[in-house]
Amino acid sequence: MNYIPNILFVLALVAGVGYFTKNIRKVIRNIRLGKDVDRSDNKGERFKNMAMIALGQSKMVRRPVAGILHIVVYVGFIIINIEVLEIIIDGIFGTHRVFAFLGGIYDFLIASFEILALLVFVGVVLFWIRRNIIKLKRFWNPEMKGWPKNDGNFILYFEMVLMTLFLVMNAADLQLQDMGADHYIKAGAYPVSQFISPLFDGVSEMALIIIERTAWWLHILGILVFLNYLYFSKHLHIMLAFPNTYYGDLNPKGKIDNLEAVTKEVMLMMDPNADPFAAPADDQEEGEPEKFGVSDVTDLNWVQLLNAYTCTECGRCTSECPANQTGKKLSPRKIMMDTRDRLKEVGDNIDKNGSFVDDGKQLLNDYISPEELWACTSCNACVEACPVSISPLSIIIDMRRYLVMEQSAAPMDLNNMMSNIENNGAPWPFNQMDRLNWSKE
Ligand code: SF4
Ligand code: SF4
Repeated sequence: MNYIPNILFVLALVAGVGYFTKNIRKVIRNIRLGKDVDRSDNKGERFKNMAMIALGQSKMVRRPVAGILHIVVYVGFIIINIEVLEIIIDGIFGTHRVFAFLGGIYDFLIASFEILALLVFVGVVLFWIRRNIIKLKRFWNPEMKGWPKNDGNFILYFEMVLMTLFLVMNAADLQLQDMGADHYIKAGAYPVSQFISPLFDGVSEMALIIIERTAWWLHILGILVFLNYLYFSKHLHIMLAFPNTYYGDLNPKGKIDNLEAVTKEVMLMMDPNADPFAAPADDQEEGEPEKFGVSDVTDLNWVQLLNAYTCTECGRCTSECPANQTGKKLSPRKIMMDTRDRLKEVGDNIDKNGSFVDDGKQLLNDYISPEELWACTSCNACVEACPVSISPLSIIIDMRRYLVMEQSAAPMDLNNMMSNIENNGAPWPFNQMDRLNWSKE
């Protein structure tokens, strides 16, 4: 018996899954570069959010056309990949359609995979048309040039090719089954590929076997390539949407957490018994003053970094952002993309040098400008719009805190307002004594 195909299959499988695992470990390592934040509370509510938002895609359907298409493509793609289990067993042991013994259930499964494959194909074509022919505005913002634009299309091509290969494989298989070819047992129902199968009428048995085997191999290799492509793509959200929605912020949207470092300082000032020489916090070097706010990705917490890896670049946040709508430089999607790009850069630096070596860059200024940060109205529209519970606002607020508290670099209007609050107890430039002047007349 010829075992070469089985050996090649196992090698491809080990290489594909191994490389994927290596890269996922990098993602986890990078996310752990973030500061600690406690999200171990309210497990029930967190599970519910994950089930509703990530699995049920409840926020996607707020825009029904895109939402329903996304559900079709997502559910279809996931279910069809159950077929991969059979492919893996067949590949390793040299069997063919190993689950055929399930009889009617097998027929039902293959028939539903085929219908879903067709729906996924149609859904993906419609997505492509929205992106490239109708040119929806949110896919053509300035940050969507180069790789982000190509990435969005590559994944659509990938899915079209994978679905086509799946149907061609079945169509050739069906012809071989009808011919009574060796090895090709009668199994499965083929409501879609039965219409492709007549294209192979008159094709010799040997040629059909070559077509079927080629489609089979390209299909499984394509899936392994797809799996590894995720690491380099926004499509990592297929997996990360689950932990991201689970660890989302449960506070009411308008609530902004106090900065722990500032709270500590204030408590110290107000506590007459406080020990000014108390030991520093766990993550703080002795003698190192505590840093207020965020200037680079390692100042963010791990949930914010998880947010950055999960961003789907859908642009719903940017399309709802009043600052962006009124022509300001801010795009909340870009905030997330920049954070992820910088985090990857820091991760690559660590891979290259063993630990992070200062590269003279940081998230602030090199990626995100103060102009973008100060354009935000903190309205939360982006957070509300995000289909996977990401908060660009929390990053914006933390970076502003750095500008104000570490660099005293707030815009002039804000500085005036803060001085007024300090001097007059109100944001306006009037003495407290004059407050009731308006009532004199
Ligand atoms: S919170 Fe800021 S970034 Fe988000 S939508 Fe409002 S203005 Fe835009
Ligand atoms: S932050 Fe959310 S809404 Fe904005 S682009 Fe990313 S996934 Fe889409």
